[in-house]
Amino acid sequence: MAPTMLITGGSRGIGAATAELAAAAGYNVCFSYQSNTGAADVVKARCEAHGVKVLTVRADVSQERDVLHLFERCDAALGVATVLVNNAGILSTMGSLVDFSAERIQRIMDVNVVGAFLCAREAARRMSTERGGSGGSIINVSSRASTLGSAFEFVDYAASKGAVDTLTIGLSKELGAAGVRVNAVRPGLIETDIHASGGEPGRVDRLKGNIPQGRGGTPDEVARLILWLASDEASYVNGALIDVSGGR
Ligand code: NAP
Repeated sequence: MAPTMLITGGSRGIGAATAELAAAAGYNVCFSYQSNTGAADVVKARCEAHGVKVLTVRADVSQERDVLHLFERCDAALGVATVLVNNAGILSTMGSLVDFSAERIQRIMDVNVVGAFLCAREAARRMSTERGGSGGSIINVSSRASTLGSAFEFVDYAASKGAVDTLTIGLSKELGAAGVRVNAVRPGLIETDIHASGGEPGRVDRLKGNIPQGRGGTPDEVARLILWLASDEASYVNGALIDVSGGR
C-alpha cells in the first residue's frame, strides 16, 4: 500500500507544491486548508491525476478539535500518515512591534506555534515505534526569518519560526530512538500569496537584490527539499534546520 503524507495548508503555495510532488512520487496525500475550498479542490484534482488517493480536510491548525479531526479523518481514509509536513503558517501586516495588537501577536503564535505543536504531537503519537507505530518523518516549515528577525516587518512571525526551529531540535531528540526523524526547512523569499497577506504582493521583487542568487524561490524548490527529507535518502538526517533561500 502507498505511504500517506499529511500536509497542513496544502491548498496554496509551498503546501500545494508539496502535495503535487508527493502525489507524483506515489504518496497518498491528505492535506488541510483553512477556508479556500476552491483552491483546495484544484490541488486535489492535480494530485489525483497521478493516480493516488487524496483527502482534503478543512481545519484550522490552531484549534485542537480541528487537528484531532484532521488526523482521525486521515487515519480512516488513507491509513496512518508516515510523513507529516507541518506547513500551515501565516504572517500579518508589516510594521513595528510598538504598533502590534495583542490579538495579532496571539493569532500568529496560535497558528504558527501552537498549530505546529499540536500536529507534531498527533503525528508523534501515531508514528512512534515506542507506542506501536511504524516510525516516520516530520518536516516543519520554518523560515529564514527565525534567524534574520524580520525587523520593521514582522518580528512576531520571525519569533514564531524561532519556536518552530526549537521544536524541531527538541522533538528530534525525543523521537530519534522511536523511529521518527524530525527536521525543518527554512525557506527564504518564496513567490507565494503570503506576501500579499502581509500587505505587499511585490515584496520578493523589492528584496531580490539582497538575495545572492538574485531571485526569489519557487514553491517547487522548497517542496523538493521536503520530499527529499521525507525519503529514505535522508535516513540519517535528524534535527536538521536546512535553509532553502538562494543564499540569503
Ligand atoms: P500561503 O501561500 O499564504 O498559503 C498558506 C496555506 O496555509 C494555505 O493553504 C492556507 O489555507 C493555509 N492556512 C493558513 N492559515 C491556516 C490555519 N490557521 N490552519 C490551517 N491552514 C491554514 O503561504 P506559503 O508562503 O506557502 O507558506 C507556507 C509556509 O511556508 C508557512 O509556514 C510560511 O510561514 C512558510 N514560509 C514561507 C515563505 C515565503 O516566502 N513564502 C518563506 C519562509 C517560510 P487557505 O488556502 O484555506 O487560506
